[in-house]
Amino acid sequence: MNNATLKQLLNEYEIKRSQAILIAEKKKEDFYKKNPRLQEIDRELCSFSLSTAKSILQTNNRDLLKDLKVKRSELLNEKEEIYQQSNISEKDFLPIFECSQCNDTGYITKDNKTEMCSCLKQKLFDLEFLQEKILKLLERFAILLYLILMILMIRIYFLLEILV
Ligand SMILES: [Zn+2]
Repeated sequence: MNNATLKQLLNEYEIKRSQAILIAEKKKEDFYKKNPRLQEIDRELCSFSLSTAKSILQTNNRDLLKDLKVKRSELLNEKEEIYQQSNISEKDFLPIFECSQCNDTGYITKDNKTEMCSCLKQKLFDLEFLQEKILKLLERFAILLYLILMILMIRIYFLLEILV
């Protein structure tokens, strides 16, 4: 396997992956702009969780945890309602990768082992096949060129023979 080819392919994968993530983020951003309450809910969820966690640690008051759960589920319900009204789900904001197996990273982890994904293997195979094909064509072209040159040289030789 050619290292430069693999490097180039992985570079393309990285670009493809970043683009999918950017598109998903933009989609979410646009949706949040149209529904500013969503952003508020997310902020509230984040800051509320943090402050409650801090209070529980400081006061050891377990009731706060109950409050947090109630408030959290209220906010999540409100969020879900907004999604439902817009006929959208949170999954719609996930990046859409070309390969669902490796999420366009080129590698998958199986039984704690990282291995090349079938999509990357196929691309490498296709590229190597193409390179071989080009080489064969170039080889044929070189032979043809050689034959033409030989014929030309023979003709020139005979022409010179006649002239001399
Ligand atoms: Zn893949």
